[in-house]
Amino acid sequence: MFIGHFAVGLAAKPVAPRARLPWLLLAPQVPDVLWPIFVATGIEHARIVPGATAAAPLSLDYMPYSHSLVAVAIQAIAFGALYVAITRDRRAAIVLGLCVLSHWVCDWIAHAPDMPLLRGDGARYGLGLWNSVPGTIAVEGGMFAIGCALYASRTRARDRIGAIGWWGLAGFLAVAFLFSIFSPPPPSIDAMLGVAFGVFLILPLAWWIDRHRDDV
Ligand SMILES: [Zn+2]
Repeated sequence: MFIGHFAVGLAAKPVAPRARLPWLLLAPQVPDVLWPIFVATGIEHARIVPGATAAAPLSLDYMPYSHSLVAVAIQAIAFGALYVAITRDRRAAIVLGLCVLSHWVCDWIAHAPDMPLLRGDGARYGLGLWNSVPGTIAVEGGMFAIGCALYASRTRARDRIGAIGWWGLAGFLAVAFLFSIFSPPPPSIDAMLGVAFGVFLILPLAWWIDRHRDDV
């Protein structure tokens, strides 16, 4: 899943009202921040396989450290602990920890059966939403629209940067999502990893936009 993860973080704003936008966007994506690092360093394995699923040309062969249920649960606890240590906001720490955990559930819905529980070479699970392009656009697009609406309902632009920046960021993510589905497969897994990691350049941008919006 791609923007569906961002959607979960945006939708968490009403239940974690003091959490800032970069944290809300980062928490549900923690496994996908680790994944390109682990594949690039050879700890995990993935290949570009055109047509592997209709929405993503990826064969995710081995990813126990970034994407097993146990690993994601550990990431959730660590992320929540880090957040509470920095901010002292226990409520948001729990909500953001659950956002990390949601990554496994969302990927389980979207992926072909490649999501491990613990061992990367054991039983793997996935409902295969990515086998349907219309289904992927409907579910992830719908989630993202709801997430944007919930975030926008609990924040207000302080100035033009806060308004244009926020809707520009949401629009950019929506376009990037459609591009990821309809563009030809990347030439190599390394190119894919670059794009996967490059997405997180939006976090400093989100930090800047967040400083131009007030909570309501
Ligand atoms: Zn993932």
